[in-house]
Amino acid sequence: MRNDVAFGAELRVGVLGGGQLGRMMIQAAADWDLRVEVMDPAADAPCRHLTHRFVQGDLQDADAVFEFGKELDVITIEIEHVSVDGLRRLKAAGVEVHPDPEHLATIQDKGLQKQFFAAHGIPSAPFTLSDAPPTAFPVVQKLRKGGYDGKGVAILRTPDDAGFDAPCVLEQPVNIAKELSVIVARNPSGATATFPVVEAVFDPVANLVDYLIAPADVSPETAKEAEALALRVADAMGFTGLLAVELFLDQEGALWVNELAPRTHNSGHHTIEANHTSQFQQHLRAILDLPLGDASARSAGAMLNLVGAADAHGSPVYTGLGAALGLPGVYAHIYGKTAVKPFRKMGHVTVTGATVEAVKARVLELRDALRVDGTRVS
Ligand code: ADP
Repeated sequence: MRNDVAFGAELRVGVLGGGQLGRMMIQAAADWDLRVEVMDPAADAPCRHLTHRFVQGDLQDADAVFEFGKELDVITIEIEHVSVDGLRRLKAAGVEVHPDPEHLATIQDKGLQKQFFAAHGIPSAPFTLSDAPPTAFPVVQKLRKGGYDGKGVAILRTPDDAGFDAPCVLEQPVNIAKELSVIVARNPSGATATFPVVEAVFDPVANLVDYLIAPADVSPETAKEAEALALRVADAMGFTGLLAVELFLDQEGALWVNELAPRTHNSGHHTIEANHTSQFQQHLRAILDLPLGDASARSAGAMLNLVGAADAHGSPVYTGLGAALGLPGVYAHIYGKTAVKPFRKMGHVTVTGATVEAVKARVLELRDALRVDGTRVS
């Protein structure tokens, strides 16, 4: 357990990635006056003006990652596409790296992730690994490396459907009833805390999470099982930091682990207002080996991603936010991105309330009222 040296800007924490997840981590870190330094390839990254030190650099470049982190005490990530070799070198040089570079290496490669599930008896859709296009259909083809937000995943029904010609996981389609996620925190001492299960509702056009509801509308048994399964994954890996475990609930009521994210996650944004400890503070507690906070809910929560309209380009123009802030239990987070693009995540709105029904009704209302357009349309 770390002592009070963690506080008062004595300790230097480095974050690889300077997007909205890093930005919200910095907001949590400011409560404890932690010194946070950030590296991101974009000169105008959302963290740019909020960090003690900003380095513009390529996250995939091992030398750049090493140079950024070598003087720091603790290194963490807000995106998984970072150089594992750079992190290995930092660890070897005595910098604390959370999550562990080897866990990141497993999670970066969907093939290794699936093999990890299989080796530890974690239920996950049956799969094979292949370097060639599939020959049996239907099948879910996933690029082993580099995919995000559904890019790199193709559901192929016939040989005519366009897939990928690269090393892939070929996965049996699951008859999905609901997409769930559970965020688990685990610190280096092995203490764990699990956030209540969340239900993600997808936008079929953008293939991005449209809104999410917490707690998920599932039976108490399913909720318990999902939370226990996520904890099992974190413990089996010996993970440190925050681990988001994405799950499918199938039409027969069975749970399957889909994939892992070794970091704060879109499905945990509501915890800022709706839980006793936010995912961002919990992540800091976990990587600094501090006692984990109470992850339980204060109230029901819902979260709506504010994404760029289908024709939005240029500077963002937010419509409807002012009126939304007049509603009880509505909180806005704007990420400070200078350019909007179609479906780009520009911010989110959280709704808290007494019941899941109430927050769901409100979030659907906001979905129609809020827009992110751009100064240019195409
Ligand atoms: P990403 O890493 O890009 O988020 P995912 O593995 O989460 O990719 O897949 C994206 C989406 O594709 C999932 O949210 C789900 O809707 C669908 N999907 C993925 N795997 C399967 C599967 N085995 N069966 C059915 N649908 C799937």
